[in-house]
Amino acid sequence: MSPNKKELQIAALQNGTVIDHIPSEQLFKVVSLLDIEKLKTPITIGYNLDSKKMGSKGILKIAGKFFEQDEINRISLIAPAVKLNIIRDYEVVEKKLLQLPDELTSIVKCNNPKCITNNEPMKTHFQVIDKKNVTLKCQYCELKIKKEDIVLL
Ligand SMILES: [Zn+2]
Repeated sequence: MSPNKKELQIAALQNGTVIDHIPSEQLFKVVSLLDIEKLKTPITIGYNLDSKKMGSKGILKIAGKFFEQDEINRISLIAPAVKLNIIRDYEVVEKKLLQLPDELTSIVKCNNPKCITNNEPMKTHFQVIDKKNVTLKCQYCELKIKKEDIVLL
């Protein structure tokens, strides 16, 4: 593929956020976690694009939107290797690598039906006790939740 053709996989963005290196199978989950379908600005969704590193990847280009850290943290659970480029005047002014935060508030549901967070109108709060394998611990009932058992709110 020529360099020009490669660039044409995605359109240029004047101001906004490019989320790159999304595993293709997680692309629509990322869209939903970031509430992108509620935005009114132009959004380009690239799906099953060629990637040397990943084989196949997804990319999101969101005009006029700059995410807050806690919004971004939501996707670090399902797409930890994602790269965010902040674009202003067609230039990348900032690159962000996602990192799983030490704590997650109001992102994950506690899997213990007796946990107070499932019985009172309150926020869930988890500590990330193992960032490599992704294990969370509920601050209230101390239940440990492994990556494959995580249920997002
Ligand atoms: Zn709990």
